[in-house]
Order: sequence, then structure tokens, then C-alpha cells
Amino acid sequence: MNTNREIKKQLTKTDFILYRECAKNVWIKWHKPEEYKKFPVSEFEKALGKMGDDVEKLARGMFPDGYLIEKRSEGAQELTQKLIAEHTPVIFQAVFSTDKYLAAADVLKWNEKANAYDVYEIKMSSTEGEDYESITNGTPPKINKKRELQYEYDLSFQTNVAKLCGVNFNKKYLVRLNKKYTRIGELDFSKLFELSDKTEIINDTFLSVTLTEMSSSYEYLSNKETPKGHCSCYFKGRSAHCTTFSLSNPEVPAYSVHDLNKIGLSKKYLGELLNEGILKIDDVPEDDRLKPKPAKKGEAPSKPKKLNQVRVYKTKKPIIDIYSIKAELDSLKYPLYFLDYETYPTAIPPFSGYHPYQHIVFQYSLHILKSKDAELEHKECLILEGDPSEKIVKSLRADIGDTGSIISWYKSFENSRNRELANLIPSQSEFLHSVIDRTYDLMDIVDKQYYVHHDFKGSSSIKKIQPVIAPDFSYKELEVQNGTMAIESYRQITSGELKGKVMEEKRKQMLKYCEYDTKIMYIIWKYFTDLIEQKGDLTDTLGKGPGTHKKA
Ligand code: SF4
Repeated sequence: MNTNREIKKQLTKTDFILYRECAKNVWIKWHKPEEYKKFPVSEFEKALGKMGDDVEKLARGMFPDGYLIEKRSEGAQELTQKLIAEHTPVIFQAVFSTDKYLAAADVLKWNEKANAYDVYEIKMSSTEGEDYESITNGTPPKINKKRELQYEYDLSFQTNVAKLCGVNFNKKYLVRLNKKYTRIGELDFSKLFELSDKTEIINDTFLSVTLTEMSSSYEYLSNKETPKGHCSCYFKGRSAHCTTFSLSNPEVPAYSVHDLNKIGLSKKYLGELLNEGILKIDDVPEDDRLKPKPAKKGEAPSKPKKLNQVRVYKTKKPIIDIYSIKAELDSLKYPLYFLDYETYPTAIPPFSGYHPYQHIVFQYSLHILKSKDAELEHKECLILEGDPSEKIVKSLRADIGDTGSIISWYKSFENSRNRELANLIPSQSEFLHSVIDRTYDLMDIVDKQYYVHHDFKGSSSIKKIQPVIAPDFSYKELEVQNGTMAIESYRQITSGELKGKVMEEKRKQMLKYCEYDTKIMYIIWKYFTDLIEQKGDLTDTLGKGPGTHKKA
């Protein structure tokens, strides 16, 4: 008897799709669940999961009088077979199970003409690419081919399992949100959701390929022996790694060559470093491979971000291009407005005028510095009832004067929201476009490499910059510590989940968090301003072109 084949687990659709992404990760999930659970689901993933559930429940509204099967038990499988035998018009979560496989179909709809069921798989993603911009500015949407193929395998998996249980599906559809839909009054299901007919793609050949993959994945996952060697992400940048990367690659330090700036886009270089046995940033040689590619004709040369990252890490001395920092900050005009939005990118548009996944701007924090020596002032707005857009913009209009610079961190986010708000409230379009024109991105100082610190670890995220520049100002003491927690707090309050004192407490925490974001921006700005002052008056040396800027 082969003891390596003892496990009798069923391969679910979710695990099959995960397996196709990364076999090793699912193997750990099956065989080392206690290790797997050490890497908990993030707040963001939890929020996505809730949103997915909401979308599925709502999409069921397109199929009236459906029978919902709530469990995955043997009884649920028998009930499925009974409902199918009775030609029940609509079945939600029909369960199909074999020795090896388990699948639940989101919706089965009896097709009288075909004398068979059509299957519908509900997805929370939209029919278009992820970019909302393509809707507002008319550029062609990006189609995510990898995700499309994943969905086809998903439908194919359930079709195969149903077939093994003696049920042949007729048509195979994906149900997805239509990003081009604008809610006017009540939700219009016929426009909110779009159907994609995948019947032709999921043909006999595709089904057979899927079945072969299902069989080999089951084989792989049933094997008790730990898969040998590195997992495939060893040759990918850090952003591609899942939470269990360290289990499969224990010799890789927490800060490694996988963290080099945009290394995921330089796979050949990463492969070379790893094949040369170089894992630590300190060991990366300062050769030509670290430098950016020469600029094409007419293009500005790229910044040597990888080289700078390695150099500051080795020397532990920051790169400070004080002349360029001064030039950036001299372009700002008082009053200075440090602005940050909190938003909720809900899948289902809850108010008129919104598209699926359009961000609801429900909060802002604004620190104002009227002149160099003025006291820092603070304004804020948080709307937790109804569509907040009009109240937010009205309040912002009252808080932001007609002159002065607005400072954000990663301004393209705030400016996208300003454009959306201008579409929602045309009467404030002129004001919101003036906000866009006046917004300066403080992140530029880090992104343009005018200030590079080894503890930034190649990142321009404010969450990486803050501990270096403002170490005493930590988010850790807050209850709401990041944007995802703010989103979840908004959801909890607006859904009525939190009430009374608990709600009031949460509201205060949300205000505190957003206030921190703009206060930290002010501290960073002040840090750079003080740095310039410590270096004296540099006016004479400016304006000679970037090549003349000396490093401090
Ligand atoms: S790090 Fe990548 S390859 Fe490794 S287990 Fe995770 S997803 Fe799979």
C-alpha cells in the first residue's frame, strides 16, 4: 500500500483554480493547514469576499423563484439530483460531488427548448478591464486575458463534475457587472449585469483538457510528500508572492533581491542574480544591469531606482538632492492644503449617478498652513448617511480657498476622485478642476529620487516613508490603521451593523485615521523644508539644469 496516497479529500473548484495559479500553495493548504492559517486573510481580502457575496445575492434577483441549496452535504447532493429530476426552473448552488471532486453551480436554469439546464457563474468583477478611467475618458478598456481564462476553467470544472454526476449542461454563461452602467433611481438588473456566453469556448476539447488537469492536480495534491525545491515565485518580484512564500523558500531574507524596485518586470535580471547565488541586497553588484535602459529618442531618462536602492542600503547613507527638493517645494504657493480622501469602491452602485466600482468619497481630512509661520489648522468632513458626494464637495469648497497649492500623496488617486465628483456634481466642476490643477504630489520627491533612504526599501508608499521621517507618529496606536479598515468601518456603519456608542466610537476612529494621513504629509513636507533651510540659501545654484544638482 502506498502511504503517500492516503488522503481522501475532494478537489473543489476554488482549489482547482488556486492550483492552476500555484500548485504548491494549495498543497500547503491541504497538508499543512496549521502553517497555512498562520498567514491570515487580509482585511482587504475579507472585504472583497463580502462584496462578492453581495454581488452573488443581488445577481440571483435576475432569476426569480430560484431554489437555494444551502449546504454541501450528502443531503444537499441528493436534493440537487431531485430538483434536477423535477426540472425545477431555477436552482442556486446546485451541488455535484464525486470521489475526487466537489462543485457548486451558482445558478442552473431549466431550458425547456434544449431539455437541459443552462449554467450561470456569477463573478464580482466587471465585463471590462479594471480601469474605470476607460469609461470616463473613452479609451479602450483593458481585457484581462488571464482572468478570462481562469473563469473559463472555472465553468469548465463545474461542467465536468456535473457530467460525471450524470448532468449535462446546455449553455454556459458568465454573469458579470457592467461597468458602463450608471444607476438612475432603482437598480436595473438587466443593465447592471451582463451575460457572456462561453458555450463555444467551453467545447469538448476544452472540457477534456480541463479534466486532464483536474486529474493531475488531484494526483499532485493527494501526494503526502512535500513538493521539492523552490516554488515558482522564487523567480518573481515580491508583489507576486503569496503569504506562504517563506515556507517554500526559507533561505530568502525578508528584504531580498525580490524587493528591488520593479524587479518583477526584469525577470531575466532576477534570474541571473538568483543563479549567481545573490539573495541579499548588500550582495548585489553595482554593474550595468542595475542601471535603467537608455532613454528612447525624445523620452526623459529613467531614474536609476534599483541602483540607488542598492547603494543607500549598502552605505546606509541617504541620497538627498537638496537642489531638486528645493525646486519642487518652491513651486508651491501658500496657503498649503494637505488633502486626503477616504473612499469606498463598492461593486454595486448604491446611489444614483454611480457606476459599479466607482469610489464613493465619504471623508476627507485637510490640514491648512496659511503662511510659513502660521499655526497649522485642521478641517475634516465625514458623511455616513446617503450619497456623501454633494456634502463632501460643498464642505471642501468652503474649506479650500481660491488660491494656494493642494498637496496629496499619490495625487492621481485624489484627482481621479475629483474628476468623478465633477461628473456627479456638474455645478462644482470648475472648482474641482481647479483643485486638480493646483494639486502637487508630495510623493514626487521620493519617486523622482530626490530623497532616497535605505529604510524606504525601494518603495514610495507613505506607509514606508512615515516610519523613517516621522517615527514618533505611528498608525499602530490607532484602531483604524489603514484605508481598508476605513472602508470596512464605513460599511459597518452605513449598513447599520454598528449602532449607538459603538458607532460613535468608530466614527471618531475614522476621523483620527484620516487626520493622521494629512498630518503625516505635513510632517514630511516640513521635514524637507527644514532640510533646505539647514543647507542655507541655494537660490544662486538653481536653474542650471538637473545635471548640475549636487548631492548633499
Ligand atoms: S509564493 Fe508563489 S509560487 Fe510560492 S507558494 Fe506562494 S503563490 Fe505559490
